[in-house]
Amino acid sequence: MFDDRSRKYKNQYVPLEPVDINLYEPFVGKEFLDHIKFLAEPLRRKVWANVNSTFVGGGVAEMLQSIVPFARGLEIDARWFVIEGSEEFFTVTKKFHNLLQGVDQDISLREIFHAYLDTIDENTRKAKVVGHMVTIHDPQPAAMIMNGNIYGHIFWRCHIDTTNASRRIWRFLMPYINQYEGAIFSSKEYVMSNVQIPTYEVNPSIDPLRKKNKQRTRKEALKILDELFNKNNIDPSRPIVAAVSRYDIHKNQKTIIKAFKLLEKNLPKEINPVLVLVGNSAADDPEGMKMYQEISRMTEGEKDIHLFLNVENNDEVIGALFSVADCFVHISTKEGFGLVVAEAMWQGTPVVGSNIGGIKKQVVSGHNGFLVEPYETEDVAKALRSILEDKLLRHTLGTNARQTVQQHFLLPHMVLKELLLMRYCLEVDNKIPESRINKLTYKEITQALYGRTVWPFSTDDLKKRIETIWEGLEQEL
Ligand code: UDP
Repeated sequence: MFDDRSRKYKNQYVPLEPVDINLYEPFVGKEFLDHIKFLAEPLRRKVWANVNSTFVGGGVAEMLQSIVPFARGLEIDARWFVIEGSEEFFTVTKKFHNLLQGVDQDISLREIFHAYLDTIDENTRKAKVVGHMVTIHDPQPAAMIMNGNIYGHIFWRCHIDTTNASRRIWRFLMPYINQYEGAIFSSKEYVMSNVQIPTYEVNPSIDPLRKKNKQRTRKEALKILDELFNKNNIDPSRPIVAAVSRYDIHKNQKTIIKAFKLLEKNLPKEINPVLVLVGNSAADDPEGMKMYQEISRMTEGEKDIHLFLNVENNDEVIGALFSVADCFVHISTKEGFGLVVAEAMWQGTPVVGSNIGGIKKQVVSGHNGFLVEPYETEDVAKALRSILEDKLLRHTLGTNARQTVQQHFLLPHMVLKELLLMRYCLEVDNKIPESRINKLTYKEITQALYGRTVWPFSTDDLKKRIETIWEGLEQEL
């Protein structure tokens, strides 16, 4: 495991300088920002450590690249650790991911004990994670909690849609999860009944300062896309249906292609759209390439369907594509949140999304896009058609889409909730944060009834001992 201060791993180093918080004022207003600064004041110089499994690719890395500089801009000592693992490790953690999303997978004891737990041991042997608050993201590093090398108020942040999680994987992970001080989910629906720790709901968010989310005129956007479009004979004057995501079974790209072909059959001749499908593969996702190849085969010879893998100048291209697209389609079968939906909506593009998980949190059918069932190819085609055929509708939905993101899904909205949680952990506030989902847990009730003092120390003794241990740990920071 290494952290972002180590430049040894050049290809994965992300510069994480503090950002000037005031730059967010045009997006969320002065009052909101002042409130954030006020909340962060007692947290200055406190350490907030984050642990995940990749610096690049996928929504978690995308968000950490913004959360860490933002928190640093507030003078919180935010840090980012990435665990190291072999391909075997990521193969098994991808199975965890799939099982948590309800897809059955064979998983052997050898994979669990050798590929997974040994890698976790290896990572925790090499480094301690010390923070006033520590957030461990997703299942890949989840078992680290048991190795006793993480210190602070430790939370598990689940970014996955676990509504239909396989019992098998939950039974394996739950004893680990229940060791955490709390678990944070992107939606209330994802919390399983056997979670015995406090749970919180925090919406993911996008960062309006990132290149990807910059607002551009059509001319500016087309200039960015010029090379890619020219090379691939994409005519920008034709209506563009865009789809952007990792190549993954849950992203349901095959249905998008089927729906697009159906759409083409039913449209009047003068509306002659192209489908631009862009995808990447995350470092912690070994299945991506296989899925890309399958989809690639499916689109061979289709002159109106353009498939891309790991585009150059990724962030600008994706942002520009969202902004020139007439419609964005994202019909995942499982989606913890779906940052791409917020990104497209932020560019004023209506979304045809599936009525599941985090997508239905963002898309309000008829207001900023349309919701459909993920495998209902005809309904997907119909929704696309209604957007492509009606310029006024497209404009209204797009305007509302941008407004939805502006009100709910920008980085400062999310950080505010994290700050309230941190204040609560560090006893700056006594009030349970509003993001709390479940009622008091058994452990909280017993603590409240019998006090927190541990025999045989008086509270002061205990406090002093803890302070000494903490000072020792801080030396290592
Ligand atoms: N993304 C990208 N290039 C691609 C495909 C995806 O930059 O070719 C980004 C996308 O813009 C978004 C993130 O990867 O910011 C994906 O996050 P999301 O929550 O949509 O899905 P996840 O991959 O986490 O399941």
